[in-house]
Amino acid sequence: MTLLVSGGTVVGATGTHPADVLVDGETIVALYAPGRAPDGDHRVVDATGKYVIPGGIDAHTHMELPFGGTNASDTFDTGTRAAAYGGTTTIVDFAVQRTGEVVQDGLAAWHAKAEGNCHVDYAFHMILGGVDDDALKAMDMLVAEEGISSFKLFMAYPGVFYSDDGQILRAMQRARENGAMIMMHAENGIAIDVLVQQALARGETAPIHHGLTRPEALEAEATHRAIRLAEVARDCPLYIVHLSASQALAQVAAARHAGRNVFAETCPQYLYLTLEDQLGAPGFEGAKWVCSTPLRSRHESHHRDLWQGLRSNDLAVVSTDHCPFCFKDQKELGLGDFSKIPNGIGGVEHRVDLLYQGVVDGRLTLERWVETIATTPARMFGLYPRKGVLAPGSDADIVVYDPAGRTTISVQTHHMNMDHSAYEGYEIAGRVDTVLSRGSVLVADGTYHGRRGHGRYLRRGLSTYLS
Ligand SMILES: [Zn+2]
Ligand SMILES: [Zn+2]
Repeated sequence: MTLLVSGGTVVGATGTHPADVLVDGETIVALYAPGRAPDGDHRVVDATGKYVIPGGIDAHTHMELPFGGTNASDTFDTGTRAAAYGGTTTIVDFAVQRTGEVVQDGLAAWHAKAEGNCHVDYAFHMILGGVDDDALKAMDMLVAEEGISSFKLFMAYPGVFYSDDGQILRAMQRARENGAMIMMHAENGIAIDVLVQQALARGETAPIHHGLTRPEALEAEATHRAIRLAEVARDCPLYIVHLSASQALAQVAAARHAGRNVFAETCPQYLYLTLEDQLGAPGFEGAKWVCSTPLRSRHESHHRDLWQGLRSNDLAVVSTDHCPFCFKDQKELGLGDFSKIPNGIGGVEHRVDLLYQGVVDGRLTLERWVETIATTPARMFGLYPRKGVLAPGSDADIVVYDPAGRTTISVQTHHMNMDHSAYEGYEIAGRVDTVLSRGSVLVADGTYHGRRGHGRYLRRGLSTYLS
């Protein structure tokens, strides 16, 4: 069965040109100058007037994550279906080892949640919540046998996921040997917990105090410390997740300028939302935007600096850190105590659109849009060139994007399992038109054609950014 995406403008990380894309089964077989594809009984997807891009890759999601006394509200079923609606055809979720648990058990539990339930292809990073001799051995095994080549450590959340500097150094040394990437949640959680207790003792219980007790300095300090620890581990590759603040970005930029193996991602919430406007909303409303790292102040230069970082590649990737909790009964666990509000924002459905709006607003080029949402995540996490590019031999994960369309983001129309939207009322000057995953049509004509169980587990190789 062949399929031809015809009449569109193909956008990739390296350029934009009119081309027809021929798909055979699950794979792209060729790109042709417009109208030059060989005749055949192709199913035709008309992309006239539209962009044709590789399917989005969201390298940071948390489906069904147990956190803060509850579970992230999207299952692999609902979350990957929402991802497909939004033009994301691969997710890399975080399997979890909690402190005291065996790494392989945590991984098996994650496979059990995901297998047979995903609408799009999926891979895993591994969260290490307890770095010890067994965990270090498990790292080698996961890289060699399980297709898991990246490990997330936490400088935050003492007692839950936290690793001390010695544990971090040991994991980094091991990664330097086995070729893995260390992903870091860079916030000084020990100091943050002091500020949280002091705030609560003063009676400061509203959601905005979540942000005020996680100041920029403690993200910048942890980012700096992670970079220096990686240096001690003979320049272990380091990837800073959900970078939110100008001063943290400056640390990454300085390390990169010095030629270090340091990379970073940001998320749409840090490009569009603020401490005052969202987290500081009246009453308990701000709980919707409690996430860590927190939203930053609009009175500082974070948005401007992060967009600039995306242009200059000091920020290489945009992921969502999709970790949705409903307002009712979930966010409400923190009524009267902001420290009990489950941390997380849902956005897996909106990343491709929100970053396209950056193109419309003149902040990114079309090519950079595709690079940050698809091509670089594929290269960074060992999925390239199977994913992240429209080229012969690559999986036929294809999004037709309509620049003449419009998208209004709302809880009324989104597909995530959330009772609110972090971006309620946002207008995007573009629209996801058609979505293919390995040659199967998931979304077309505003209708969903995908199915639970279509998505397959992807064994990843090593990052192609490392020698
Ligand atoms: Zn994190
Ligand atoms: Zn996360």
